[in-house]
Amino acid sequence: MSDSSLLGGEESAAEVNSIAADRAIPLIELREVTRTFVTGGGVEVNALRGIDLKIYAGEFLAIVGQSGSGKSTLMNILGCLDRPTSGKYLFAGRDIESFDADGLAWLRREAFGFVFQNYNLLGTESALENVQVPAVYAGLNSHERAVRAESLLSALGLGDRMDHRPTQLSGGQQQRVSIARAMMNGGNVILADEPTGALDTQSGIEVMALLEDLAARGHTVILITHDQEVAAHAERIIEFRDGEVISDSGPKAEHVDARNNGKLRDIFMSRKASPMLSGMGEAVRMAFRSLKANIFRTMLTLLGIVIGVSSVVAMLAIGEGAQQDILAIMNQMGTNVMTVRPERLPGSFRRLPSTLTLDDAQQVEANIPNIVAAIPQMQSRSSTIRYGRNDSESSVIATTGAMPEVESWPLAQGVFFTDQDSEQIAAVTVLGSEVAATLFPEGQNALGEYILIGNVPFQVIGIMTSKGSQGFNNPDDAVYIPFRTGAIRVFGQDNAEEIRVLVDNVDVIDQSEQNVLEFLTARHGTQDIRVDQNTSFLESASQSQETFTLLLGSVAAISLLVGGIGVMNIMLVSVTERTREIGVRMATGARQSDILSQFLSEAIVVSCFGGLIGVGLGIGVGLILESFGVSVYFSSTPMLLAFTCSVSTGLIFGFAPARKASKLDPVVALANE
Ligand code: ADP
Ligand code: MG
Repeated sequence: MSDSSLLGGEESAAEVNSIAADRAIPLIELREVTRTFVTGGGVEVNALRGIDLKIYAGEFLAIVGQSGSGKSTLMNILGCLDRPTSGKYLFAGRDIESFDADGLAWLRREAFGFVFQNYNLLGTESALENVQVPAVYAGLNSHERAVRAESLLSALGLGDRMDHRPTQLSGGQQQRVSIARAMMNGGNVILADEPTGALDTQSGIEVMALLEDLAARGHTVILITHDQEVAAHAERIIEFRDGEVISDSGPKAEHVDARNNGKLRDIFMSRKASPMLSGMGEAVRMAFRSLKANIFRTMLTLLGIVIGVSSVVAMLAIGEGAQQDILAIMNQMGTNVMTVRPERLPGSFRRLPSTLTLDDAQQVEANIPNIVAAIPQMQSRSSTIRYGRNDSESSVIATTGAMPEVESWPLAQGVFFTDQDSEQIAAVTVLGSEVAATLFPEGQNALGEYILIGNVPFQVIGIMTSKGSQGFNNPDDAVYIPFRTGAIRVFGQDNAEEIRVLVDNVDVIDQSEQNVLEFLTARHGTQDIRVDQNTSFLESASQSQETFTLLLGSVAAISLLVGGIGVMNIMLVSVTERTREIGVRMATGARQSDILSQFLSEAIVVSCFGGLIGVGLGIGVGLILESFGVSVYFSSTPMLLAFTCSVSTGLIFGFAPARKASKLDPVVALANE
């Protein structure tokens, strides 16, 4: 494009125009064109009744006629915003009928420049941005665009108004902006529909002078007016009445006969592939702009997505935290330990009376491979333990010397009793840390002292470290005595409630479990015991975790659905509100795909926004809960997943409105109030 002259682009315009003339092919030819509208009531309006017209490149012609005579209808057809009902429209010798929607968009972009009576500028954009719109769709980069738009606006005397919005400009200034926009892609053919209709006399004179100047520079200018005085500026005047041409002063010979070089066909040759991607960034930018314009409404729309995403993020963090807790407990309990207990009564949680003995434990340990130790245990839940004036209601647990090893539980002081102590029925005891603290407060020495368990004196030989557990069956709130001592001197019976079995290789724990079960069943002559692994607890815990996740998934799905409907709703409203804008964009050369990607980008930007807020809120809620002592664990996968879901929601639910926008008929969209 050459900018050697005032407005730039004239050379190429002159070139194209002159080529048509050279071959005596009209730039525009209408043959018996009609346009019939069918109104809501089924009434047919014949706006154009068989128009035959040849317009040559470089002409400055005026179409005059009273209001309602069909001038605007004709202009819409000339500018490829509308198609004839019947008849032929040849542009540079090509039949327009063979052009698809994109082809027409391309013609509007490259060949035409529209100047409307009501300017049709985009209200949210500055003068400079308005002028650039056609070049956006032509795929010009932003720098080239800005430079050209600035030079056009300066040439039209608006150098100091570039950043003004249309509402901050006078009518005459707005019309000059719209002329600059028409020139942006070259403006070979300027279609001006009542360009002075809304202007005061002075501005009208200025605008007419501009159009005359353009015509003098070789642009084809088609001026539509009801005003004979305005029409008088043109070189050729065509009079219109009731959809028919009633007089035509005819083209000037110089336009029909002009001899120049070049080929008209080049305008078709130069047709480029759609620069889709360059439009994408623009679409996202526009999306942010329209988001900003309706920030409160957008926020409300986003609630669904925000709630969906944040609940997923927060609840998964809590769920994950709970699982980590369970895992920690599991680790403490040991996954390498099995428990042998009496079998349950059929159909009940109660167990058979125990038949487990110290001998069972010793034989299991001695005979089954992969078993490190097996300790029998019997216990009373609450016995009175006394030292001097201090006493404690605590569990008494009778077990064997391998207990610290099986439970991976070291001593804090002293020693643990041995199997020999058990054989000798020694009255020795090891205290849990809480019992020790109760009986021997303020760091009093306990080792070697005698305490009473029930009424039996026991000598303290060790104190366990604290497990830090709480509540029922707290191992810290217990005293430990040798198994046989307990059987004879405390419990008065010698069956173990359970046998705890430590395995060496956890990988074959299932086999060991089976071995223990079979071994003891054979010993007892009946299967009256069962063997449980700690991992079965883990399984049930992870099962409830799955239920939780499922529940969470449904909450998320429902709120994302609601969110999606919200997005769809806002997009439909947006399309309705901006129908006129869509029309303007189409008139300046936007393809259907441009409009589609603009509105889709908006939907995606909106839902991205919602997704981000949702993730942030979810993390916030999680942190608040954490400060109240709930364990939470954040991992990135659910956040990414929730975010992706919200974006896809925008994409899916935004598609229908965006498509609706892109399929709008340019004339219908432009006529929208
Ligand atoms: P002008 O621009 O000369 O004032 P128009 O081309 O706008 O006239 O209108 C020509 C005739 O076609 C008018 O009678 C008008 O009512 C009718 N017309 C224009 N557009 C439509 C439409 N979309 N539906 C029905 N009738 C229409
Ligand atoms: Mg009109």
